[in-house]
Amino acid sequence: MEKEQLVKTKKEKAASGTKEWASSNVNFIKGCIHDCRYCFAKSNAVKFKRKTADNWKNEEVNYEKLKKNFRKRKGTVMFPSSHDITPKHADLAIGVLEKLLKARNDVLIVSKPHLEVTEKLCNHFPEYKEQILFRFTIGSMDNDVLKFWEPNAPSFEERLASLKYAFSQGFKTSVSCEPALDGNTYELVQQLSPYVTDSIWIGLANRLKGNLKLNGHGDAETWAKADSLKKLQNKAWVFGLYEKLKDNSKIRWKDSCKKILQIDRPTMAGLDI
Ligand code: SF4
Repeated sequence: MEKEQLVKTKKEKAASGTKEWASSNVNFIKGCIHDCRYCFAKSNAVKFKRKTADNWKNEEVNYEKLKKNFRKRKGTVMFPSSHDITPKHADLAIGVLEKLLKARNDVLIVSKPHLEVTEKLCNHFPEYKEQILFRFTIGSMDNDVLKFWEPNAPSFEERLASLKYAFSQGFKTSVSCEPALDGNTYELVQQLSPYVTDSIWIGLANRLKGNLKLNGHGDAETWAKADSLKKLQNKAWVFGLYEKLKDNSKIRWKDSCKKILQIDRPTMAGLDI
């Protein structure tokens, strides 16, 4: 099991971020109402002046992209990768998905899910269950934690209800606990596992302070929370989590954890875990 979880193909080893999940992606909105503090898509948009830290939460639909047709692509298509599917634009997202699925693409739908959106998607695409894999991002069970890091995203209960709904409708389901937002990832995994058919990905917040700075969160409170998260999720914590979850065949470790588990594994004996 240990080997299975850590050994990857050369290509997968080289991949990081969303490339670990899909070969290409499709997006049609600039910005995201969820406005997560650590958002990499936001910091990238701010860096390249496509958005500002303030107006990131105003979603701008790219109507040109909506006209686009799709061919069958090689590998999985991630949809979306730099925004989310929010209730206001769910019908437009269904239009894009319809074209992707009709072209026989395998689509990974990644979202901090709103229940009404999940219901719409499941009810609209019952005949495409084999081509769709839902991956819902859930980094904590604690709504105070979620509210701080992901201010406008759905509550834990709503995300769990979405996961349960997609599962109950016979869709393939997975979860991304990346970034893990507190120390209770083991308990979170235990709660979500029964509704996951595919995989549960665990990762740490990458480039946290750099993203926070670009995203307009250089304040003392955010900095202090980032510091305590970093301190909490140290090497010993990652190894401890690994030990507890190594027999769960659904667990996949993101590059941030793999780096610690692979490179530092020889030093494990010296750690107090
Ligand atoms: S839901 Fe995703 S795209 Fe939207 S702000 Fe959060 S991290 Fe960024």
